[in-house]
Amino acid sequence: MRGALGGPRVLLRRLREVMAEPVSAQERLDKIVVLIAANMVAEVCSVYVLRVDGTLELYATEGLKREAVHQTVLRQDEGLVGLVASEANPINLSDAQTHPAYAYRPETGEEIYHSFLGVPILRSGNTLGVLVVQNRARRTYSEEEEEALQTTAMVVAEMIASGELLSIAKPGAEPAIRPRLHLGGVPLSEGIALGHVVLHEPRVVVKDVIADDAQKELARLDEAIGTLRSDLDLMLERGEMADGGEHREVLEAYRMFAHDQGWLHRLREAVMTGLTAEAGVERVQSDTRARMLRVTDPYLRERLHDLEDLGNRLMRQLLGHDHAPPREQLPDNAILVARSMGPAALLDYDRRKLRGLVLEEGGPTSHVAIVARALGIAAVGEIANATGLVEAGDPVILDGVVGELHVRPAADVEIAYGERVKIRARRQAQYRALRDRPSQTKDGQPVTLLINAGLMVDLPHIADTGAAGIGLFRTELQFMIATAMPRISEQLSLYRSVLDAAGDRPVTFRTLDIGGDKVLPYMRLAEEENPALGWRAIRLGLDRPGLMRSQIRALLQAAAGRELRVMFPMIAAVSEFDEAKQIVERELTHLRRHRHKLPDRVEVGAMVEVPSLLYQLDEMVERADFLSVGSNDLVQFLYAADRGNRRVADRFDAISAPVLRALRDISDRCVAAGKPVTLCGELASKPLGALALIALGYRALSVTPTALGPVKQMLLELDAGKAGAMLRPMIDRPVNSDSIRNELTAFAESEGIPL
Ligand code: PEP
Ligand code: MG
Repeated sequence: MRGALGGPRVLLRRLREVMAEPVSAQERLDKIVVLIAANMVAEVCSVYVLRVDGTLELYATEGLKREAVHQTVLRQDEGLVGLVASEANPINLSDAQTHPAYAYRPETGEEIYHSFLGVPILRSGNTLGVLVVQNRARRTYSEEEEEALQTTAMVVAEMIASGELLSIAKPGAEPAIRPRLHLGGVPLSEGIALGHVVLHEPRVVVKDVIADDAQKELARLDEAIGTLRSDLDLMLERGEMADGGEHREVLEAYRMFAHDQGWLHRLREAVMTGLTAEAGVERVQSDTRARMLRVTDPYLRERLHDLEDLGNRLMRQLLGHDHAPPREQLPDNAILVARSMGPAALLDYDRRKLRGLVLEEGGPTSHVAIVARALGIAAVGEIANATGLVEAGDPVILDGVVGELHVRPAADVEIAYGERVKIRARRQAQYRALRDRPSQTKDGQPVTLLINAGLMVDLPHIADTGAAGIGLFRTELQFMIATAMPRISEQLSLYRSVLDAAGDRPVTFRTLDIGGDKVLPYMRLAEEENPALGWRAIRLGLDRPGLMRSQIRALLQAAAGRELRVMFPMIAAVSEFDEAKQIVERELTHLRRHRHKLPDRVEVGAMVEVPSLLYQLDEMVERADFLSVGSNDLVQFLYAADRGNRRVADRFDAISAPVLRALRDISDRCVAAGKPVTLCGELASKPLGALALIALGYRALSVTPTALGPVKQMLLELDAGKAGAMLRPMIDRPVNSDSIRNELTAFAESEGIPL
């Protein structure tokens, strides 16, 4: 290193001695800046520490005026130091004073220094502070010097992270090592959970940062990379991955990175500055993480994630042990924090101890979110850098109602949430008390309340909610959470368990509704421009009858000696229904011929969720044994607004004249023809939506299990006749700006109906 005395390795060795000395925190920091300045032949070396209030405080300096220590405090967007911190990137300037961000603080006396090299003090991708060297001369710091200062910053990061500086911090302005955080994301599964963090993939904590023997560390690194590469080759060669799909793609990306010269060079360089092999990997990982936070392009982010995963694998290789969390030994009230997670991984955890789930990625329609809801665990998604901001064991509050996370919350926040949890528990107790009350409106109209389900974990909800049955069993969920296509025997066994759990209550199975946003990891479908309008659901079922036939066979066999209710998703033309029904008949004939026991009765229905069916209602009502309205898709298609796209999903109100008119027409036709009709979309799961539906004439609703209590509480207080007399004329009047939702809410309030 040009200009450096003894090079970075000597510096690291000296720093290690200083770290071990029995001196005060301030003395240690003072010694560190002196050492760095001397080693780098810099006139100034300063340490700025990021505080909980988001400002940067000068903690130690060699070269600037000593009176400025603990006095100079910069905002995070102030000056070059602020820029280094906020961008988490080094700044290297031969004439700092000409930089637009330069901000001069008279108390420091820094106006005489021209060159400036500042690097972020990073730990797990989080900025803890800034380390700066300055010189009077307009000199350019070399790349090696920049690299060396970054390595040195790792040692300072360890010191800050150890909490040692807390002893010299002003109360309320402590270093932001474990600050209170209030992070926003998107709600994935309703509920509030108070608990402690469990990292799904625990970070490896590097304890030995400074190497004794650099050559030895390089050899360790090379060996670990060699093993990593051959492991990846082996995994890729293994037959189980050979069919293509997500897993293979990820492994291919890993292999590409494992041979990437740039990455290998950075790792080796970091180790050559005097770090242990694992600290070198951590150094490069820190940079990757910091870059990841800045990149918004989804493709690039994905690649950086791959690179990070690969780094984690390398780290495990070096430390020689597997860091998979002991899933059986979860602490009570565990809040799982992960970057992303598959549904099967979530099901591996002990449900009784799991309270919540926090994801850096994952929207409400992700499969893991579906499973979290089925398990009744509160969950939030899209919390940026969640895994970097929390530590295992941290107390956290997860608010799955609004989609927020409080990390290491203040006592008053904890008390407030504790109260909310109690209120929610009380409300749950009230709902439970309603469980056995007949489900009928105040004016004596019976309303059948069913639940939506799709997994084994949903089955206990039939009993806890007192539901009349399962109005929608989404069979695709079993397929979505599996790593390979479920065999017919597995399907049969699930369907049998569902029917057993339901006893004499009806279950309506919906045939596979895949495609669109419902992707199977092991089944590659061609990319489509508009997947929601593409080759999905019944379209795929009819074109690939093998899959549909085996599912129907499994359903018929599972229901031997009982009633089978089966319905088809996304029917857009009556001919599709006819074709699908023929498959059922053919399978029945087949089973009969092979002397299988048959169901006592088979009822075949259609989902009404494509607007074209609104104009084929007479034909549909004639053919189907029952109809079930899928309001999620129906509303998405009526308004042409993607239900999974947050920008547009809430743009149009489902409680509005166009939708309610369509729903009224469906109900009226069914009532006139004496055909049973249910509504199983989310609209029925909101008390106000359910109120509107009952007012329009619906007498069977299938809802999310947690919604059954609130919907029942609402309908017990509802006069259905009065509500109908109010709503029907309202939806027929010319559409204007008056909101039907507001008028309905006002009606409920005036009637004392709980919403
Ligand atoms: C619907 O579309 O309303 C429905 C119930 O089906 P899914 O949400 O599974 O598409
Ligand atoms: Mg649907």
